[in-house]
Amino acid sequence: MKILVLNVGSSSLKFQLIATDKNAIDTNSDHRLARGQIERIGGEAIVTLSAGNAEPTRTTASLRNNADAVEYIIAWMIGGDSGVDITSAADINAVGHRVVHGGERFKQSTRIDGNVRRAIEDLIELAPLHNPHNLRGIAAAAAVLGTHVPQVAVFDTAFHQSLPETAYVYAIPYQFYRRYKVRRYGFHGTSHRYVSYRYHQLTGRTLEQTRIITLHLGNGASACAISAGHSVDTSMGFTPLEGLVMGTRSGDLDPAIVEYLGVKEGMSGGEVDAMLNKQSGLLGLSGVTADMRELLAEESANNDRRSRLAIDIFCYRARKYIGAYIAALNGVEAIVFAGGIGENSPSIRERICRNMDWLGIQIDADRNAILKDGAEGRFDRDGARVELWTIPTDEELLIARDTWRVVNGEEPHL
Ligand code: ADP
Repeated sequence: MKILVLNVGSSSLKFQLIATDKNAIDTNSDHRLARGQIERIGGEAIVTLSAGNAEPTRTTASLRNNADAVEYIIAWMIGGDSGVDITSAADINAVGHRVVHGGERFKQSTRIDGNVRRAIEDLIELAPLHNPHNLRGIAAAAAVLGTHVPQVAVFDTAFHQSLPETAYVYAIPYQFYRRYKVRRYGFHGTSHRYVSYRYHQLTGRTLEQTRIITLHLGNGASACAISAGHSVDTSMGFTPLEGLVMGTRSGDLDPAIVEYLGVKEGMSGGEVDAMLNKQSGLLGLSGVTADMRELLAEESANNDRRSRLAIDIFCYRARKYIGAYIAALNGVEAIVFAGGIGENSPSIRERICRNMDWLGIQIDADRNAILKDGAEGRFDRDGARVELWTIPTDEELLIARDTWRVVNGEEPHL
């Protein structure tokens, strides 16, 4: 089956066209036929497209809305000179959507119908910045491909629905959970789930045998404690703001700071919230950039004190979560790094894992150094108690596979 994977944001759209089926899933031989992204939808949009593994081409196009954008990518794919192996829109057999918030209702990927659309709409309250755009993506795909083409929602929150109450209820008056469903949801679930699945595939360990900690370190960052293939705790919370230090998000902080800064700076609650989401983290600490690669360059080229501080706090916070999750899991077999930083930066992995010998975490510097640019592998020292891995995440692949499974009536795997 050829599956269009869509991730629709406020003014952007990312897509892949992936050919997959049971055999491809079992043998890891799915084909990526096309990929690309469109930014600045609503005006003169910037379009980046590539067929298969070809070099991407960039162009601009006047695209008013998501439907225009979906129409554009399909027209490109079926156009003769794209190099993509389809000749008509009818060759697209299903659509898989990344949907950010599935609340407590969606515990796994789900075929989209009227009821599911309404449920995603009801959840807009919890994800006002994301779910409306995901819904527009669903409507656009139906408008362009026809309502007979099955669509599947793959939720960022679903993997974490296995959290026990002790991990998801906040210690505030319980009625706020009952009344408003204020609780930990966690995000990046598709990434943590993919990485966990791939770890088991690479090692041949059975699900029951393993407790692992996955660290998704990208612009957004989160940690997840996984026991027997199930998420049992995760660092993002009611929103993606909680937990690790991120590119522009603060992660954990004393909630009393919100009121205090509001009064001191004359900011509303909403303004403090925006500051914590958009001007904090690596950006706020360094005053230079939210981008880890640039910060590392700044640190080594100019010995910049605040860049170093930002990186040190980022690594220290990640290390604290590793410690906490080893306690939550009562031990750990492996720690797995993913996301742009986790996959590409041996030095950040080394700084996070530093001084944890007592816990059995020991790096092999040579093995660590070569794991970048999409490489997958293990970098703990011979004889170390805890395995250390880098596994590039692939959320689109998991969305395509889940879509295939849901459409074909098979249970999504862990
Ligand atoms: P997103 O969360 O938006 O998908 P990514 O997973 O692509 O983002 O991660 C982006 C982050 O990864 C940026 O901070 C970027 O600097 C960092 N990154 C990418 N390559 C490297 C590298 N070689 N060394 C350090 N950081 C890197």
